[in-house]
Amino acid sequence: MSDHLMNTYNRQPVTFTRGEGVWLWDIAGEKYLDALAGVAVNGLGHAHPKLVKAISEQASRLIHTSNIYHIAEQAALADKLCEISGMDKVFFCNSGCEANEAAIKLARLYGHHKDIQAPEIIVMDKSFHGRTMATLFATGSRKVQAGFEPLVSGFVRVPYDDIEAVKQVASRNSSVVAILVEPVQGEGGINIPGGVYLEALREICDAHGWLLMLDEVQTGIGRTGTWFAFQHTAVMPDVMSLAKGLGSGVPIGACVAKGKAAEVFTYGKHGSTFGGNPLACVAGLATLKAIEEEGLCENSTKIGDFIRAGFEAEFKNTKGIIAIRNAGLMIGIELDRPCGDLVNSALKAKLLINVTADNVVRLLPPLVMSEDEAKELVSRLSLLIKTFLA
Ligand SMILES: *Cc1c(COP(=O)(O)O)cnc(C)c1O
Repeated sequence: MSDHLMNTYNRQPVTFTRGEGVWLWDIAGEKYLDALAGVAVNGLGHAHPKLVKAISEQASRLIHTSNIYHIAEQAALADKLCEISGMDKVFFCNSGCEANEAAIKLARLYGHHKDIQAPEIIVMDKSFHGRTMATLFATGSRKVQAGFEPLVSGFVRVPYDDIEAVKQVASRNSSVVAILVEPVQGEGGINIPGGVYLEALREICDAHGWLLMLDEVQTGIGRTGTWFAFQHTAVMPDVMSLAKGLGSGVPIGACVAKGKAAEVFTYGKHGSTFGGNPLACVAGLATLKAIEEEGLCENSTKIGDFIRAGFEAEFKNTKGIIAIRNAGLMIGIELDRPCGDLVNSALKAKLLINVTADNVVRLLPPLVMSEDEAKELVSRLSLLIKTFLA
């Protein structure tokens, strides 16, 4: 503990020193089941041998040069991301909010190219896009914005999963240039939209010449059972932001674009000192390779559905459970009351979970979780939730 850290986090009273797969050990040697994976970051679990080998070798060769020079690892990762997504071009940065900042800048520039002087972007209630100034005001939560006014303008907010609301904006507002949306809302409470939501948004974007920009920072890199959540549909986005799972803990973000959107940024319009450095890109390449070799997208679907079925069986006669939702290994259990205290009782039971949107238990386990480990998770957590609700 240090008195010299700014108070931006309400930290759990635990310090980890070592990890392996879905397990973590604290300084006292106690073993914990990690069902949060650093908030959707450690898809490969902890200390995955292929990742450790790749980044150790790269670190001993070269960590950073500069985007002033060609970076072979960056080019290789851009090629791989475009191959698995069907997108065309990538800008690398270091985090999710930066990936969204790039997307927001790209959309504004796209608008100015169309002679729209004050371009606006449609964003959603309950969304989360990051903590920088622009992404803060794109985020649909007054709580995170309060105190940071004056707000960054240029965002029009509508309810999530509400096509009529988007159509109404389209009919009266001629300065909209893009929609920024999460395919599944993470921080907002694991909110999964109805079946044709993305298709309908795509249609509206096409009819008005808007960019469809998907924030896949949490849903991307295998989390929902496909490389990217949009791949559950026939929709292609114009822009997609990535981060969290991409580097398995080595900071990296990416703004990925297709077609006309891929040509918007030209020389001098955006940049990043660290973005796409050799170490981060090797972490990204090793992550994608391991997911492919070990069938982890498929495992995400299999284990995610297994966990949901497990909770459905456990909670069949439990009052207080409103819904159990999952998209692969993005899992939410909505309770009828605020349940932040569950994080503490879970920690005491050597289980790492998260509560979001006040009353939703959120699980984002490593993609490498086995069926036995999933059983352990379901039994530990359902006991805690039943005790909490009793
Ligand atoms: C976590 C998250 C972000 C912000 O990512 P940072 O790396 O913390 O800046 C943005 N969008 C979504 C959907 C996220 O889950």
